[in-house]
Amino acid sequence: MSEIVLKGVPAAPGIAIGPAYILDQQEVIVAPRAILENEVPIEIARFEEALIKTREEIGGLKKKIDEEMGGQHAKIFDAHLMVLEDTMLNEEVIKRIRQEKQSAEYVFSKVLKKYVKAFSNIQDEYLRERTSDVSDIGRRVLRNLMDESRMYELENLKEKLVIVAHDLSPSDTASMYNKNVMAFVTDIGGRTSHTAIMAKSFGVPAVVGLKDATLKIVNQDTIVVDGRMGLVIVHPSNETLEIYRKEQTRILASRHRFDDIKDLPAETKDGKKVSILANLELPEEIPMILSLGAEGIGLYRTEYFYMNRVDLPSEEEQYEAYRHVAKAMAPKPVTIRTLDLGGDKFISSLQIPRDMYPYLGWRALKFCLARPDIFETQLRAILRASVHGKIRMMYPMVTGPDEFQQANQILEKAKSALKRQKIPFDEQIEVGAMIEVPAAVMTADLLAQQAKFFSIGTNDLIQYTLAVDRVNEKTADFYDPCHPAVLRFIQKVIQAGHEAKISVGLCGEMSSEPVLALVLLGMGLDEFSMSPLNILQIKKVIRSVSLTDAQALVEEIINLPSGDKIEEICSVRLRQLVPDIFNSEVKD
Ligand code: PEP
Ligand code: MG
Repeated sequence: MSEIVLKGVPAAPGIAIGPAYILDQQEVIVAPRAILENEVPIEIARFEEALIKTREEIGGLKKKIDEEMGGQHAKIFDAHLMVLEDTMLNEEVIKRIRQEKQSAEYVFSKVLKKYVKAFSNIQDEYLRERTSDVSDIGRRVLRNLMDESRMYELENLKEKLVIVAHDLSPSDTASMYNKNVMAFVTDIGGRTSHTAIMAKSFGVPAVVGLKDATLKIVNQDTIVVDGRMGLVIVHPSNETLEIYRKEQTRILASRHRFDDIKDLPAETKDGKKVSILANLELPEEIPMILSLGAEGIGLYRTEYFYMNRVDLPSEEEQYEAYRHVAKAMAPKPVTIRTLDLGGDKFISSLQIPRDMYPYLGWRALKFCLARPDIFETQLRAILRASVHGKIRMMYPMVTGPDEFQQANQILEKAKSALKRQKIPFDEQIEVGAMIEVPAAVMTADLLAQQAKFFSIGTNDLIQYTLAVDRVNEKTADFYDPCHPAVLRFIQKVIQAGHEAKISVGLCGEMSSEPVLALVLLGMGLDEFSMSPLNILQIKKVIRSVSLTDAQALVEEIINLPSGDKIEEICSVRLRQLVPDIFNSEVKD
């Protein structure tokens, strides 16, 4: 088979070579398994047993729903039972097990696919809508046919695989941590989607926004994932494989190239010190973060704590988690970002329809102000944990001083209640504002009167400034951190913060790009917070330049009209000032 090269959006660096596994959440994927003649009756019996078991399950469900919600709702299961009793379908499966000598699950999955396709092509709208019943019930039968361990589940991958999916939610990605996932590639998504951010912090190469990878790749195809260039190579030739294997070895060998500066300060040649902090998604990452010399956590994304579950986390549970992180990092600071629900971070336990909180919807602080019950629970947990280390907290998506004040009022209420209950907390806890929407940039001078620090969230600031969706592969080329508007906004926020004598950090993906870190340094940024695996590289940049070099670069670019031109000039300058970053040709 000839080699196919697919081009997508680079999401997390690194190279992986391995067998593809197509993860289609709508479908249970079944690998072929040939059987012997004498196994035919066994497979047919297994199929019949699975049908009986599924019928029992549906009967039980129907009864329960009937009792709890009434007969009308229970009727949906009649359609399921009809599919189970469809003699044509069942006879076809039995016939094909005999003829093809394949396992019951494999034959059933093939017949089911045919039925689903036929249903989805039916003209009659009512019948067409039954497609989902057919696939729902089909999945149930398959699960009853297959022993759990044979089903590929994200949590349970038995061999090392490259996950290929149409889309992956951040919670899917979270469940891949430390599992047998070599890399992942998706049809949709952008560079700063939370799925991509997570892959980067787990050190798993990823390419997103490939448009139709799930159609072009088949289970078990050997594929190469080049996370730096955003390429996926299907059926690589021997020559390609050799090139990538060499590249992989070289990247591995250069992983530790900056280890010698791990314990040294992030200080420029002319003595300007900045802080390099890590972004934290899962507490499991802490040992790695500490081993890389992070000076603290600049962004603890607490949303993941609310995902992958059917209920909301209690105060106690949250307290335990925050305490654990604070203690593990102490005396280094931990910046807890309050719940930033919305956009691509969907929380099923809230039982709110997904389309209620798109990027411009009811999200982040707006949501928390409207649901003080949920917000206050989190604030109490953060406050209680604050005595176990150095905790700071910040609100996401603040749009202006009023909102910041409203959030603080809820915080004050939580503090008073704790005082009444004689529960200790850090009374000096610092509260900062994330600057990630244009309204916050334009009111930064006012916000700086109230906030103890700023943290610029460029992942969002770029999308709201340029009107480009951060998770949409179609707008990926327009998502430009070097756009003059973005750079001017950042400059304005840093100036406003410094005039009010508060520190200004940046925790979007931008701070982990060496070329851009140089510009941010020149603008006077105090704290760089990033995916842990980028820390040493950025520290290398800081230690290799002088503040005056970086300031001169900012002067040179800040009045240029073109983002492309700005990027080009910055790259050339970085190459001159920090050749080490390029010498080993590792761009991750
Ligand atoms: C940001 O928007 O830059 C940010 C750091 O927050 P998140 O990526 O979680 O939206
Ligand atoms: Mg954000």
